[in-house]
Amino acid sequence: MKKKKVVLINPPGRYRYTRDYYCSKVAKANYVEQPMDLVVLSGFLNSDYDMLIIDAVVDGLSVKECLRRIDYFKPDYLISLSGLVSWKEDFEFLSKVKASHRSCKIIGTGDIFRNEEIFYSNPWLDAITLDFSNGDINAYMEDAFDSMESMIFRNDEGEITSVIKQKKSGELFEIPVPIHKFFLAKKYTFPFVRSLPFATILTDFGCPYSCTYCVYSKIASKIRRAENTIEELKYLHDLGVRELFIKDQTFGYSKEQRKGLCDYLSSLNEKFGWTCFLRAEIIDEELVRDISSGGCHTVIIGFESGSDAILSKYKKGCSRAKLVRAVEILKKFDIRIVGTFILGFPEDTLETINNTIRFAKESVDFAAFNLFVPKLGTKAREELVETGAVPARLESEYDQSGISSSKGVSPIHQTELRRIRRRAILTFFLRPSYIWRRIKEIRTMTQFVVTIKNGLAVFH
Ligand code: SF4
Repeated sequence: MKKKKVVLINPPGRYRYTRDYYCSKVAKANYVEQPMDLVVLSGFLNSDYDMLIIDAVVDGLSVKECLRRIDYFKPDYLISLSGLVSWKEDFEFLSKVKASHRSCKIIGTGDIFRNEEIFYSNPWLDAITLDFSNGDINAYMEDAFDSMESMIFRNDEGEITSVIKQKKSGELFEIPVPIHKFFLAKKYTFPFVRSLPFATILTDFGCPYSCTYCVYSKIASKIRRAENTIEELKYLHDLGVRELFIKDQTFGYSKEQRKGLCDYLSSLNEKFGWTCFLRAEIIDEELVRDISSGGCHTVIIGFESGSDAILSKYKKGCSRAKLVRAVEILKKFDIRIVGTFILGFPEDTLETINNTIRFAKESVDFAAFNLFVPKLGTKAREELVETGAVPARLESEYDQSGISSSKGVSPIHQTELRRIRRRAILTFFLRPSYIWRRIKEIRTMTQFVVTIKNGLAVFH
């Protein structure tokens, strides 16, 4: 039987966007991360479909070139990333695809699609997958609607059907091994890698915590079986990959799964080096010993603010004191710390923002300063809609680097916030002590190139 044809696409855009795994932004320093949704979906579609993967961002493809490739391939289905940061141009592109391929079903994945209203106002859209890790995509393409768990779609009569099965947090799941070869062949980059090539993997999905500004607080968490992840790790090891970005939002909160993975990783003769996101609250010596012996060299932690009042208001579940304690433990094990910080919370004043920037300088090896964005589906956004600070209907793009503004959210003007963010970046990265530390830790050519690239990015 003739295989159905599927395009997986990261669409073209004005900027180098990152818009996978329900988070979208303009990429810092022109880094392009591997698009997690497409990586995972490639495994589900692997043998049963004729697949074309287009990443217009990493390959710098134009709208015209993408349309040409799609026209030539003539897909039955097209699965596209899109995000809050770029939805207007993405939707224009996707409506053009639909205009030339009326019978091709267009399926959306990304933060922008976590709002059912999007579905009603965009007639070119045939379906939304709300969880790219559960095999719904196969069920949709095989018309096995009863086995779906979380999709919204139009049926043949054009009626909109929403299947959202409530799941308990903490369930176990498995995924097929993704087609990493495709993504390894492209020039993806990530600022914390120590060697190339690198691969991006998931060992859990969603997040069990409830920070109210964060989209993951609304996604029921699942834990991937350790044996299933190890199967993927063996495949990557055989391909010669020795560097990983574990894109879980909160790696290691399941102790049993973490031990299973770290035991395997530490048993390898040629180890992987890796970076993961950790939640400060769960960091203790046992956890850090596990990840360190497994090869972890860098962790990314959401510090967000230096103000306990703001951390508490947004249900961060972690105080400044706990963050400081987590830093002490990680430093003891010589693990590099990347802190993410949010400037311009509605409650922020110039004083609290300066306090946050000072906190970053005192605590972490690398800092990412983002501007507050009222992300779709979050409690923080709902509250701002209630007060009238943010319109209920989505009117514009939002970007946490400040390219598109979150006007009206903070009492501090957006231009001033952008200026403060720029100052934070410059004063963080141009400290002589900081530059000297970075130079001293260079061990490989990849690290050298990455350090130079990071350095130049400060001036962009
Ligand atoms: S900020 Fe981190 S810990 Fe909090 S809900 Fe989001 S992913 Fe989870």
